[in-house]
Amino acid sequence: MHHPAEMMIHQYLENATSGKSAMSQETIEQVAVDIKDALNRQFNTKRDEKFRLRMSNIGRPSCQLWFEKNKPETALPKPTTFIMNMMIGDIVEAVFKAILRESNVKFENSEDVTLEIDKKTTISGSYDLVINDAVDDIKSASDWSYKYKFDSYETLHSGDSFGYVGQLAGYAQASNKKAGGWWVVNKANGQFKYVPAHIDMEKELDKVKKNIKAVDSDELVRCFEPEPETFRGKPTGNMVLNKNCTFCSYRQSCWETLRELPAQMSQAKEPKMVQYVKLKGE
Ligand code: SF4
Repeated sequence: MHHPAEMMIHQYLENATSGKSAMSQETIEQVAVDIKDALNRQFNTKRDEKFRLRMSNIGRPSCQLWFEKNKPETALPKPTTFIMNMMIGDIVEAVFKAILRESNVKFENSEDVTLEIDKKTTISGSYDLVINDAVDDIKSASDWSYKYKFDSYETLHSGDSFGYVGQLAGYAQASNKKAGGWWVVNKANGQFKYVPAHIDMEKELDKVKKNIKAVDSDELVRCFEPEPETFRGKPTGNMVLNKNCTFCSYRQSCWETLRELPAQMSQAKEPKMVQYVKLKGE
């Protein structure tokens, strides 16, 4: 399903590409302000080391949140590409909003919102934008993620290790608006699309409450188990890291036997690297 604004954006970009439309100085100034804010946030704001539930993490698997709260020192160090990736996301958001403005798409800009779970638990965050009374998020995605993860709401929901669904549900509930969806921009080639959300709000908010309980528990309950490795359709007897754990910063302390090795059965000259949790016979 296409968003009504998509046509307007395509029309503006087509005109801009052929030199038939321009960008106002006011919009350009706003992009500059947004990117300046992002630079200050990424480079000049002290990172909050203390664990807090935020809209940006409430939808994540509860086991990741458990580690973040109870064993933060065991996180793998962030790669040096981290800050650049965050900046790319911020720049894409600023430019995408500029394109929306110039395409005459009416929207309300970011706002801070707070969701009260109970008397002692509140979760805060800042949503990206509201169009037609529905909260939308802007995501910049790798080519793979654009094609496969953001293929549809269902594909996103089924492998949502970054908690995007819970995040949008939280924003919608806290702002008393509908959950719209995700504007996704492909970082590799500039394509964009809209992925509408079909969130079961009751279920998502229930998951948030369960996450809060799990984080406060003394015991880690893993959400995923290692998967059997297959070669030419047959199990090799080795166990590999669950794909939902791939980007988890705690995978090494969660699975102490985890090691990255060349694919054990591969006959390729340069086998791909695989994260093994258990080798056959161990
Ligand atoms: S490695 Fe997997 S199971 Fe362990 S905390 Fe991370 S997401 Fe959960």
